[in-house]
Amino acid sequence: MTALLAELRELLGAGGVLARPEELFVYEADGLTHHSARPSAVTLPRDAADVQRIVRACRKHGVPFVPRGAGTGLSGGAVACHGGVVIECARMNRILRVDPENRIAVVQPGVVNADLSKAVAKHALFYAPDPSSQQSCTLGGNVAENSGGPHTLKFGTTTNHVVALELVLADGEVVRLGNSAGLASGLDLVGAVVGSEGTLGIVTEITVRLVPLPERVETLLGIFPDVVSACRAVGAIIKSGLVPSALEIVDQRTIRAVEASVYAAGMPTDAGAILIVELDGPSAAVAVQVERASAHCRDAGAREVAVARDAAERQRFWRARKGAFGAMGRLAPDLYVHDAVVPRAKLPEILERVCAIGDAHRLRLSNVFHAGDGNLHPNISFDRRDADELARVLKAGEEILRVCVEAGGVISGEHGIGLEKREYMPLVFSEADLAAQIALRDAFDPEHACNPGKIFPTTRFCAESNPKARGYERVAFE
Ligand SMILES: Cc1cc2nc3c(=O)[nH]c(=O)nc-3n(C[C@H](O)[C@H](O)[C@H](O)COP(=O)(O)OP(=O)(O)OC[C@H]3O[C@@H](n4cnc5c(N)ncnc54)[C@H](O)[C@@H]3O)c2cc1C
Repeated sequence: MTALLAELRELLGAGGVLARPEELFVYEADGLTHHSARPSAVTLPRDAADVQRIVRACRKHGVPFVPRGAGTGLSGGAVACHGGVVIECARMNRILRVDPENRIAVVQPGVVNADLSKAVAKHALFYAPDPSSQQSCTLGGNVAENSGGPHTLKFGTTTNHVVALELVLADGEVVRLGNSAGLASGLDLVGAVVGSEGTLGIVTEITVRLVPLPERVETLLGIFPDVVSACRAVGAIIKSGLVPSALEIVDQRTIRAVEASVYAAGMPTDAGAILIVELDGPSAAVAVQVERASAHCRDAGAREVAVARDAAERQRFWRARKGAFGAMGRLAPDLYVHDAVVPRAKLPEILERVCAIGDAHRLRLSNVFHAGDGNLHPNISFDRRDADELARVLKAGEEILRVCVEAGGVISGEHGIGLEKREYMPLVFSEADLAAQIALRDAFDPEHACNPGKIFPTTRFCAESNPKARGYERVAFE
C-alpha cells in the first residue's frame, strides 16, 4: 500500500487521496451501518482520466477498488469489505450538457439526483427517478443500484431513463455503451450495467432521459384506520385503470415519528395509516382522476381524503414522506431499512405477517413504502451495540425475506443485494442462474478487482440453492 499511496498522490495531488484513520472512518459503512470495513485509502477523482489512472495503479499493485457515490446505499454496496481503495465520485459533479430538444442530459456520476431536476426545470423538464435520498444520493449510485423512488410507479426506475454510459473497466480501458438517441443496437449492455452494483466497472458519464413537467399535479392524503385498508385502496385504484405517479403508504409509528420531527407536515397522529396518492397530467384529466381516486379511498375505509391546497403544502407532504427514515432517528440509534417486493394483491396479507415477525422478535418495526409497486420497506429501529437485539433484527430480516419470496416476491426492490443479501440470493436463483450471472461479471472483470465480495453468495446457503427457483425460465431445445 505504501508504494500505491505514493503513486496515487503523485497522480491526484495530496488533496485527492485520503489515508488517515480519522478520514477513512467515515467511509467504513454506507446507510446500512451494521456492515462495516475500513478501506486502505479513498481517492477523489475529478474526471474519467483520473479514474482510469487510479484503476491502473490499483491493478499494478494488485489492490481491489470500490466505486462510491454519496454512501447513502442501504445494502453495504460501497463498503470495501475486502479492503483496498475507494474511488469516490463526489467531485465528478458537473452537468456536462442539457439538450432540451432531445430531452436528454449528460452528467458526471457525482451529480446529486435532485440537482439535475433543479437544473433542467427552466426547460420545463425533470429527471423522473426520485429516491427519497435524492437530496444527497448521486446519479452514479442510482445507476449502480437501478434506484427507484415514489414516482417510479408511473415513470419507471433508473434503467428506464439511462440511454448511454461511459465506463472505466476493471483493466483501465474506457468504453462507451449505448447512444444518446437511445438507438443502440446489439446486446443491451447499458441494461446490464444499470443495477450491477458497481461490479462491472466505474461509471464516469451518464446520459439520461428527461421528462416534461406535467401541466397539473394533485396530491391526496387518504386517512385510514389501518395499513390493511390503505393497501386495499391501492389495489382498487390500480384495478380501476388509474395510473397515479405515486402511491405511498405511511403507517402510524412512522407518522408519529415524522410529526415529532423537523419533517412534521400536520399529518393526523391518530391515523392508522396514510396513503399518499399523486396524480399528474393534463389539467382536465387530473380533475376527474382526483374524484375517482378519492372515491376508491373512501370505499376502502378512508375516514377522510385531504387534497394538498397548493404546491407548498404538497412539498411539505413529500418532505415528510421522504424524511421518514431520518425521523426514525428519534426512535433508536440504528435503523434497518429492509427492502423486498411482493405481488401488489398480496400486500395486506404480507404486511400482517411482517408485523407479526417484528412482534415475535420483540422489535420496533414500522412501515413506509412504495405501495403501488408492492415494494415494502419494513423499518426496524434498534441499537446495534446490543448484540442480542442485533441478532433478533437479522433473524427477523431473514424471516421477512422468506415470507416475501414464498408469496412470489423478490429479495430487493431498489436497494440492491450488496453485502446485506448476498447469502439470500439462492432463495430466488438456482446455482445455474447464479453461474450465468457470474459469467456475465467475469466477461467484464474476470479477476473481480472491481467491488469484490458483493451480490454473489459466499457459502452459507449453497446447499439450499433451489434448482426450481424462479430466476429464469428454462427452455429445452431439440
Ligand atoms: C434516507 C434514505 C432514503 C432512501 N430512499 C431510496 C428510495 O426511495 N429508492 C431507492 O432506490 N433507494 C433509496 N435509498 C438508497 C440509496 O440512496 C440509493 O441506493 C442510491 O442510489 C445510492 O446512491 P449513492 O450515491 O449514495 O451511492 P453509494 O451508496 O455511494 O453506492 C451505492 C452503490 O453504487 C456503486 N457506485 C457508486 N458510484 C458508482 C459509479 N460511479 N460507478 C459504478 N458504481 C458506483 C457503489 O459501489 C455501490 O455498490 C435511500 C437511502 C436513504 C439513506
